[in-house]
Amino acid sequence: MIQTQLYIDGQWQSPIDQGTRAIVSPADESVIAQAAEATRADARLAIAAARRAFDGPWRQTTIRDRARLLNKIADLIDRDAEKLAHLESLNTGKTLTESRTDMGDIAATFRYFAGLVASESGAVNEAPHHVISRTLREPVGVCGLITPWNYPLLQAAWKIAPALGAGNTVVIKPSNLTPLTTHHFTQLIAELDLPPGVFNLVTGGAEVGAELAESLDVDLVSFTGGAFAGESIMKAATGNFKRIGLELGGKNPNIVFADADLDAAVDYALNAAFFHAGQVCSAGSRLMVEDSIYDAFIGRLAERLPRIVIGNGFHGETQMGPVQSAQQHEKILGMVQAGIAEGARLVHGGKRPAGDVFRKGYWLEPTLLADVTAGMKIAKEEIFGPVITAERFRSEVEALRAANDTPYGLAAAVWTRDLDKANRMSRALRFGTVWVNDYHPYFPEAPWGGYKASGIGRELARIGLDEYTELKHSYINLAPKAMGWFGA
Ligand code: NAD
Repeated sequence: MIQTQLYIDGQWQSPIDQGTRAIVSPADESVIAQAAEATRADARLAIAAARRAFDGPWRQTTIRDRARLLNKIADLIDRDAEKLAHLESLNTGKTLTESRTDMGDIAATFRYFAGLVASESGAVNEAPHHVISRTLREPVGVCGLITPWNYPLLQAAWKIAPALGAGNTVVIKPSNLTPLTTHHFTQLIAELDLPPGVFNLVTGGAEVGAELAESLDVDLVSFTGGAFAGESIMKAATGNFKRIGLELGGKNPNIVFADADLDAAVDYALNAAFFHAGQVCSAGSRLMVEDSIYDAFIGRLAERLPRIVIGNGFHGETQMGPVQSAQQHEKILGMVQAGIAEGARLVHGGKRPAGDVFRKGYWLEPTLLADVTAGMKIAKEEIFGPVITAERFRSEVEALRAANDTPYGLAAAVWTRDLDKANRMSRALRFGTVWVNDYHPYFPEAPWGGYKASGIGRELARIGLDEYTELKHSYINLAPKAMGWFGA
């Protein structure tokens, strides 16, 4: 049985009150680990350690030191990629193929930020000859990083790499449902020769996250998760007006025009919605199809859905695993029922799959609800499960209006062969990412984040590093002379 501990001030330790939490496999509900469950008191110790480390020798590290550190972390991720991928699949239920892809992306993220950090040199500004004026980038300070359960280590990497790369110190709190890969990652960090307190791990629930958000000794909090927690973090952050980054939920339209490559569009509609059983913030669960091809499109999806292989993520033939928790399972089934009650037509799924192997665990059939209209709850709220809701539209204007009519703005996709229309839609959709004739790709080089209620700030790309820095104007007068403004 895996047992995890907290990592505070360079030491592995148990929570002050010895709290533990059983970590459960979503595939069969068996207990796979006992994780340390921290409280606010542990979080305070970690914050204090991070504060001391930030105010100590860590500030003297150079960009070369930190770039080397990120590259070393990437090498360790590569070394333990198989172990990490197994832990991620065990804890989240996602297929091993998906977890292996995550580990590759995580190593790439560290290498990308290593390159960016190494190229950082500030700027010398034009100024009078007796003045040196420089624009400097400095670390923000102690960073509280709070991550969700759907992409546990990937979301952590998007925060840790730029935070450490920019010279900050870190207290990370993964979701208490999925701490295993972040714990293993911390073991990798412990192999490195970092000063105590630079990197701290506190596994626990909302109260630990709340302590990070409230603490006056934390300078930045970066959060990925749902709107409810995001709102309370934003409010808590006003205590010292700490810097905040919020990556929240989405209700992401996948819009198919009649002139699209339909073979590709049908195939990607499945990928958009059922990848990781739909538990992706950018999942394309809101399918919108042009009227003239709507019935045929639904027919083709209906034919594909029963062929999706549901199963344990460790089995090679599995295409879709379970959802992460009993709570999610119940919530998703509730949303499906709400949709049917509002008039949606259940084409496929909407229930636990039949068979002994699916009796335990949080299994759901891939689900298609057709004839959904824009006003329905299921067209507006994030479902975060393997459910496609399909709406019909009659014109580009109608599709655009309906797609933008959501409080969220994370990601959208458009399928068309008309480049002019593709460009018009890309510009007019109010979402942080708009894909055309594709779904889901992201790169470390491209920014990730949401408009409107999908969040504040961006991760990845140059801006993903900038979020972890303060800009300073350093002005040095080399030849000061009395000004005489107020006389002699
Ligand atoms: P969640 O909001 O329940 O929890 C996220 C993290 O916040 C966890 O570590 C949790 O313990 C902590 N937390 C909960 N309440 C808190 C509070 N009051 N103060 C501080 N911390 C608190 O989210 P989740 O259920 O783990 O993740 C699913 C959500 O995350 C979905 O809405 C999904 O769309 C979103 N998400 C967004 C992105 C993105 O990039 N925009 C990526 C992944 C997931």
